[in-house]
Amino acid sequence: MKLYNTLTRDQQEFVPQDGKTVRMYVCGPTVYDHLHIGNVRPVIVFDTLRKYFQRFQGWDVIYVQNVTDVDDKLINRSIETGEPVSEIAARYTQSYFNLLTELGVETPSHSPRATQFIPGMIDLIKGLIDKGLAYEADGDIYYRVSGFSEYGKLSGRKLDDLRVGARIAASEKKENPLDFTLWKKSKPGEPKWDSPWGEGRPGWHTECVVLSRHYLGATLDIHAGGNDLIFPHHENEIAQAEGLTGKTFARFWLHSGMLMFHGQKMSKSLGNFAYAHDVIEEFGTETVRYFYLSRHYRKPLDYSTEGLEAARVAITRIQTLIDEVTSELGASELATGTGSDTNEQGRGFLASLQPLRERYMAEMDSDMNTVGAIAAIQDIVSETNRFRASATGDARLALQGAISLIRELGYPLGLFQKTESTSKGIEDDLIRLLIDLRNELREKKEFALSDSIRDRLAKLGITLKDTAQGTIWT
Ligand SMILES: [Zn+2]
Repeated sequence: MKLYNTLTRDQQEFVPQDGKTVRMYVCGPTVYDHLHIGNVRPVIVFDTLRKYFQRFQGWDVIYVQNVTDVDDKLINRSIETGEPVSEIAARYTQSYFNLLTELGVETPSHSPRATQFIPGMIDLIKGLIDKGLAYEADGDIYYRVSGFSEYGKLSGRKLDDLRVGARIAASEKKENPLDFTLWKKSKPGEPKWDSPWGEGRPGWHTECVVLSRHYLGATLDIHAGGNDLIFPHHENEIAQAEGLTGKTFARFWLHSGMLMFHGQKMSKSLGNFAYAHDVIEEFGTETVRYFYLSRHYRKPLDYSTEGLEAARVAITRIQTLIDEVTSELGASELATGTGSDTNEQGRGFLASLQPLRERYMAEMDSDMNTVGAIAAIQDIVSETNRFRASATGDARLALQGAISLIRELGYPLGLFQKTESTSKGIEDDLIRLLIDLRNELREKKEFALSDSIRDRLAKLGITLKDTAQGTIWT
């Protein structure tokens, strides 16, 4: 599988370093508010990659994502509202985990909170001071950027260019305007921890280095996040980790593109955002996931209601096929069925879908091109609809196999996994009962009554369709 590595600026063959287990770190949220819909893009993109690794590459994944529960944004929110930082963080951490569930995201293997790892951060900073890569200035500790010759290698920025225009704020006591904070002396009322340099708190860039190394070792397979983190956050992580150990910190750096709104990056500070939970409530999880994954993850994506509506239409077309086949062949067979009981015609049809499965994998193996992967699924749906229109008898059992294939390929994308539409339980039986009654009434030419059943079901959102194979409902 090839992945685009921001560090080398090209696509490289990716295999985990031990050949079996992918060690993956994705920068997590600062829990001072609910996530906006733009924040959700890397969450969905890297969840998809993780699931593809597990299901199609056969690799295990250790997936670590931090929760930043001490930070300037949290402290500012606390000053505004008078609520303690810890309570704000607890509330929005819960909100974040609820959102992961709503989005069908697999729970991270580890979700460490920054505040649980303060001693490790102090140790890291001590190590950097001992190496001459950090210095103290009146209770604050700064990283000495000039001490790390590779600074700028991830973002492609040169130190000399960066220096132009950089200024040291009067409140700071840095040697160099590019030096960044590792430890910040606390002001009265702020969260604080004891350290060799007095009471204070760690900087954000230090947090991710310590948490990722704790769970994944000195060299990660993948470090990922939104591309707004490349500079300075990820650049500063590399400077600390590699400055300290001399070892490669992450073999692959993966970055998702920004969500744009009228040509601007969506962000809270610009005020041009929508909360993720509101968008999910309006459009549903699958539509939101489809919306993101129908654009290549590295490209910018424009947020629009029209884009989400188009995603909903595309999803509905596929879900309708799944629902109708389920209705025709029965939920229980569909859940386990592979279509193996079909006849030669059906087997021929299923064999004809295999090249589309291979195309899906080739697209995903090409820097996770979900756009091409979704197109392959759409082609399977078209082929299946065509087959369905003409196949009769046992050949139709092959439809089970086609639906299983669509669901298999939809799994990494988080699409078509819903079980409620494939196992409606008593509801399914009751609707079948009404359909049978309606058909008996029609045979007796009691059309007023049979139409009334159909119309009243329609008012409940249940559509009946009379086909050559009988009546099906969705
Ligand atoms: Zn980070």
